[in-house]
Amino acid sequence: MDGSMQNYVRISLYVFRYRKLVTLSVVCALIVSAFWAMNLSLAFPVVKVLFENDSLHEFVDKEIAARQATIAEHSATLLQLPDSDVKRRARVQYLMGEQSGYVLMLTRIRNSVLPWVPQDRFDTMAAILLILLLATVVKGMFIYFQELLVGSIVQLTVNAIRQDCFRAALRLDIQSLGNIGTPSLMSRMTNDIEQMTQAIRVFGVTLVREPLKAGACTLWAFFVNWRLALLSVTMVPLLGLVFNFFGKRLRRASHRTMESMARIYECIAETFGAARIVIAFSGFRKHRRQFLKANRDYYTGSMKIVMLGALSRPISETMGVLCVFAALAPGAYLVLRQTDTILGIQLAAEPMSIAELATLYALLAGTLDPVRKLSSVFEQIKRGMAGCERVFGLIDQRTTVPEPPTPRVLIPHNSLISFKNVSFRYEGTDTEGIPRPLALRNISLDIRFGEVIAVVGGNGSGKSTLLSLLPRFMDPAEGQVLIDGVDIRELRTSELRSQIGLVTQETFLFNDTIYENIRYGNPTATAEMIHQAAEKAQAAGFINQLPEGYQTVIGEKGGRLSGGQRQRIALARAIVRNPSILILDEATSAVDSHSEDVIHTVLKDFAVGRTVFIITHSLSSAFLDLVTRIAVLEHGQLRAVGTVAELQQHAPAVLHMLQVDIPQTRAA
Ligand code: ADP
Ligand code: MG
Repeated sequence: MDGSMQNYVRISLYVFRYRKLVTLSVVCALIVSAFWAMNLSLAFPVVKVLFENDSLHEFVDKEIAARQATIAEHSATLLQLPDSDVKRRARVQYLMGEQSGYVLMLTRIRNSVLPWVPQDRFDTMAAILLILLLATVVKGMFIYFQELLVGSIVQLTVNAIRQDCFRAALRLDIQSLGNIGTPSLMSRMTNDIEQMTQAIRVFGVTLVREPLKAGACTLWAFFVNWRLALLSVTMVPLLGLVFNFFGKRLRRASHRTMESMARIYECIAETFGAARIVIAFSGFRKHRRQFLKANRDYYTGSMKIVMLGALSRPISETMGVLCVFAALAPGAYLVLRQTDTILGIQLAAEPMSIAELATLYALLAGTLDPVRKLSSVFEQIKRGMAGCERVFGLIDQRTTVPEPPTPRVLIPHNSLISFKNVSFRYEGTDTEGIPRPLALRNISLDIRFGEVIAVVGGNGSGKSTLLSLLPRFMDPAEGQVLIDGVDIRELRTSELRSQIGLVTQETFLFNDTIYENIRYGNPTATAEMIHQAAEKAQAAGFINQLPEGYQTVIGEKGGRLSGGQRQRIALARAIVRNPSILILDEATSAVDSHSEDVIHTVLKDFAVGRTVFIITHSLSSAFLDLVTRIAVLEHGQLRAVGTVAELQQHAPAVLHMLQVDIPQTRAA
């Protein structure tokens, strides 16, 4: 219960941002209710005019006379009261003041309004109807305003929460994001938040008004007969138990449906994300089956919610009736037996009258109505709260690469990058529940500024993992990574990353213009810098041949470009960043020889004055003239490191095994 309480508080904090709108909507509601009351009270003059043969003029005259008579009575009472009875004197004077106020108001009405009111009864009636019509129209206007206000408060709140959700997700580290998964993120930011929206709306409408109504009725019931009311209230915990029972199950079921909604998203994303493969391999049936299963799960979960909701309503209503009975049965006993005790317990101050019992009954029944209304929105609230937990859970999730509390200032890297005894293990377990093996095992490696170091090793040997530590995609479990002697965990991540350029095998481009895709590397870059970067990356040639040049929109994931073109744009993006550290993760693998030449030429120029890591599973001989040293990884361990000649001398087997293709002439 306290957990969900916290969620209510958090939502209220969001709503509190729009307190002006909230106040306005309450004002609107008050105006609406005032007009509502006024419309109802118009029934009074209608009845007067129709049945009592009064015109409004006569009515007001009579009313004034009656009030004045009351005032006269009061002043007579006042004369009789001794001066010492201050309390009662004040009371009577207060009443007199009130009556005089009425007289003043009525007199004003007589003088200013009544000259406009017709004397004829039918004309009066018509005027009243006209007022009724106008009042209804005005009331309708305020209802409109109020609904708009409540609607916009709900939408603004939910938008703010969605924004925070997005921001929180962006702050997360790569591993956590991978564990949550994009479809789950999507369903949280759409479906789950939508469930919250419904709950907040219900909250604003029903959950504020109904408990107040119930509370007022209960209070009044206590006033009528506190002993019997207490009896009935003692049954309330029972009602609480019922709500609790259903609440827990509803929440669990809601969680499950949201998870299956996330699976539906996943299924859609996976199927259509790989549309090319799906169509090529005609995998429709498999995907349809997956979708069917996810959809069926969702149905099962939803039906469970429907069932729980449908059950909770009649049961809570029955419990409510039991509460009323708890008071009513002994009450009836008291009335019908004309006594004030049951089994020797005093239950009423004096034998109860039927009127008293009837009032008590009406009041307790008046408490029941809100309970019934609450139980009908109960399901919605619980759904929303389950959504709320998932959404706030995401907002609260902390990154595993926290920012340092007092970051050190990073001067551009200029001397040494060192990995000191780093070990790393990916989170989670395999299918048998055994934790994953170490992906990196006690690696120590120093790289001087200006080196071009090739990190080679077979698939899964830990090359990408090792270099993921440098931009802090994750932190090592043990050991440190230092840049120029400073532990990178002591640097602001944004500053650290601003020094690093990354080009991967799979080039990630956004569905935007070529210009913007390059500028992504450095948002402050001028057009000239972008053109230069494209030039250096040998991309300018093909870009200029495109009809729209730099303004060409390249399609989703850069789908309208060839692989080599995409890679050159990715290179340009890294170049325009002007990083002191460049990481090429398999950027030279699986490219045609022309692209390899391009990268070679680009690096020859660009590597000067930077530290460059070339990650590759098979180092092409073309790069050997650039590479200063080679680090060889195997099963997460550093097998050897040195210049080509050193490796040739000390660990030729390693080079051979890794298929590092070394020309005979060099080996000699
Ligand atoms: P390389 O880049 O040398 O091919 P990686 O560094 O990508 O190798 O992977 C090293 C090991 O870590 C592999 O055994 C791989 O299965 C595992 N691994 C890589 N990424 C993840 C991940 N996100 N979650 C779990 N294990 C991973
Ligand atoms: Mg890799």
